[in-house]
Amino acid sequence: MAPRYVLAEMMHETNTFSPQLTDIEKFGRNSPDGGLLDGAEAIELFGHTNTSFGGFYELLEARGAIVDVPIVATAWPSGLVTDEAFEEMAGRIVDAARTAPDAMFLALHGAMVTQTHDDAEGELLRRIRVVAPDMPIAVALDFHLGMSPELCTNATVVTGYRTYPHIDTHETAQRAGRALLAGLDGEADPVISWGVLPMMTNMLRQTPAAQPMKDIMDHAIEAEASGEVMTASVFGGFPLSDIPHTGLSVVVVSNGDKGAGDRLRDELMAMAWDRRAEFVFDFDPMEVSVAQARELGDDPTTSGPIVMADHGDNCGAGGITDVMAVLEEAMAQGLDDLVAGPYCDPTTVESAMAAGVGAEITVPIGGKFDMPAIDLDAEPMTLTARVAAVSDGRYVVTGPMATGTTTHIGDTALLEVGSVQILVSSLPLEPFDLGFYTHIGIDPTARKYLLIKSRQHFRAVFEPIAGHIVPVAGPGVCSEDYSIRDFHRIRRPMYPMDLETPMTVIGN
Ligand SMILES: [Zn+2]
Repeated sequence: MAPRYVLAEMMHETNTFSPQLTDIEKFGRNSPDGGLLDGAEAIELFGHTNTSFGGFYELLEARGAIVDVPIVATAWPSGLVTDEAFEEMAGRIVDAARTAPDAMFLALHGAMVTQTHDDAEGELLRRIRVVAPDMPIAVALDFHLGMSPELCTNATVVTGYRTYPHIDTHETAQRAGRALLAGLDGEADPVISWGVLPMMTNMLRQTPAAQPMKDIMDHAIEAEASGEVMTASVFGGFPLSDIPHTGLSVVVVSNGDKGAGDRLRDELMAMAWDRRAEFVFDFDPMEVSVAQARELGDDPTTSGPIVMADHGDNCGAGGITDVMAVLEEAMAQGLDDLVAGPYCDPTTVESAMAAGVGAEITVPIGGKFDMPAIDLDAEPMTLTARVAAVSDGRYVVTGPMATGTTTHIGDTALLEVGSVQILVSSLPLEPFDLGFYTHIGIDPTARKYLLIKSRQHFRAVFEPIAGHIVPVAGPGVCSEDYSIRDFHRIRRPMYPMDLETPMTVIGN
């Protein structure tokens, strides 16, 4: 008889400083009708994509298994997930666990915080264990999370992305899935070793494509490749979250040899701790970075657009995507031939669509939300602009991240003020693919300046076309400046807030 497995996805990265609650509607964004996806429809849409869900599904499909899918739900990073949304999603997964499948495969994020639970994934796993104490569970996670004992001790296998931009999502799930299946087949005995360090890394210093993370991640990859352990994952951590689990963490799955797992975990943690100062990111004031971009654009030896990446209000890390400060600065400094956005502002899109292409409108763009956690007031930018184009904001991703998925940014308008074009969408987007330009008729390679809100995910598609990339520290809830936030609930002491922090590891 074919084995029967449950495969589910529930993903959210919660920025606890964002004023925007995340309700259940936001988790239906990838579905054609806006509802939560499940069953055959979810498999059709995501079963063969570069996602954790796709990675698990293809592994199970190849095994000829029956695959039950109770939910596939991902929302863009934002503020606390409502209790109602969590109960709906977790309830579906726990109900599926009650049906006594042979195993469960979960695509989770690891940084979901709800109105009630600091550690939503740990709470989910805890509830699953109540109804299915012995069921094997494989969990594939994001690189940005706070690792908790509930998550690690209730799972059988845990893996995480080893790239940032996250282009290895499919592979991450397959690493977890293969390890679990080897255990099911009696060929292996997966045992988890894990630990969290009291250090917060800046997200702009985390990528495993560069030092200091490169050496650490390479060591994990080599240990896995040599067969020393089954899987090894290093998690950069998600520092925009004021919860007790915040920090850099390591999870190793050994084959029945906890000593080997512990040894590698300790090596990886020592490497990260020794280089903790290198994870601190220094940045210029916004005005200085915009001036630098202007100079690069005026340099006749520059070929290709100057990409300005505003990382303070990036929805990929929980930003609202409507803080206009960097665009205001760029226009004040006279940057021409510029495409900016997308900025999330459904009201302005509605006005543009009502006026129609070719019409001139005067509208307040963005600046809809006060951000009390960082003491920033809402400030729209009022402009008189021509509506250059409109779209339904739907396109298929062709870049290396989430390849093959359909992205939906809602009704979208392209506004034009002289040689400056401003893209305004109804839903937030971190530009990890160029489809948001091309679907509305913009050729980004032909422009002098591109202003986007992103931290790292843009690089996979913008690096090949950019003349230069200039990170810009705009204001917002994703700011790399930790001093603007009051952390109340993280572990203390915590590096780099507390420079004399001792290396105290929480783990098993
Ligand atoms: Zn991430």
